[in-house]
Amino acid sequence: MKPFVFINVASSVDGKISDESRRQLRISCEEDFRRVDELRAESDAVMVGIGTVLADDPRLTVKSEELRRWRVKRGLPENPIRVVVDSRCRIPPNARVLGGEAETIVAVSRVADRNRIERLRERAEVVVLGENRVDLVALMRYLHERGIRRVMVEGGATLNYGLLKEGLVDEIYVYYGNMIIGGAKAPTVVDGTSFDPPVELELISVERVGRGVLTKWRVVSRRFGRRKIS
Ligand code: NAP
Repeated sequence: MKPFVFINVASSVDGKISDESRRQLRISCEEDFRRVDELRAESDAVMVGIGTVLADDPRLTVKSEELRRWRVKRGLPENPIRVVVDSRCRIPPNARVLGGEAETIVAVSRVADRNRIERLRERAEVVVLGENRVDLVALMRYLHERGIRRVMVEGGATLNYGLLKEGLVDEIYVYYGNMIIGGAKAPTVVDGTSFDPPVELELISVERVGRGVLTKWRVVSRRFGRRKIS
């Protein structure tokens, strides 16, 4: 069993999620930030790859006090659990995602240094899943066993690819901001290598949000999965 998994990403019209320097770019507008905050508040866990932690140092908490109160009223913690996918346990001890406002799970693989894992255990729950890279199928199974039913993936390009490749993504929401970033080496919504055949999507909705467009898609074909997981 796995949780419902959706990717939410902000992209330029040319499909880039950052520029070639991989620094964090403001692609969304205020209206979209509010939408993303609501999605976080409605999720049990928010997941990112270590590349995003190193590039953006996100906190991944619910920003609106009203939404945090709404969660508490429903018997939930103020913030969803944060999940970082980090095979080699490279996460810096002062990363903001390890801050005390919310629980954090760091998924590492067997190549991670044992001393680093032990030090990290003082600040986060650490799970070891996979030989070289984190086994994403096993991670989703683990999260489901942990009671997590709804996972919001907030990037980046490589994690998005890994999850799609394993057939783990149910829906993908792409907000197109009013810009073109360009750059052949800039990260895109999904990096990695091309899917053959491409992953088939079904359009759920299209909506104008602020100065951009929000498109919601359901993943139809999941034939790339190494292992099937329902
Ligand atoms: P990423 O996707 O955040 O993290 C990728 C890393 O996760 C991999 O390099 C790998 O590092 C680790 N990983 C472990 N197991 C994996 C697995 N099974 N499959 C895939 N990855 C696995 O990093 P990124 O691709 O460099 O993306 C970061 C960029 O995206 C930044 O520029 C950031 O600003 C941008 N971003 C944009 C948005 C947006 O919405 N616009 C959102 C998020 C990020 P190890 O092998 O070391 O574990």
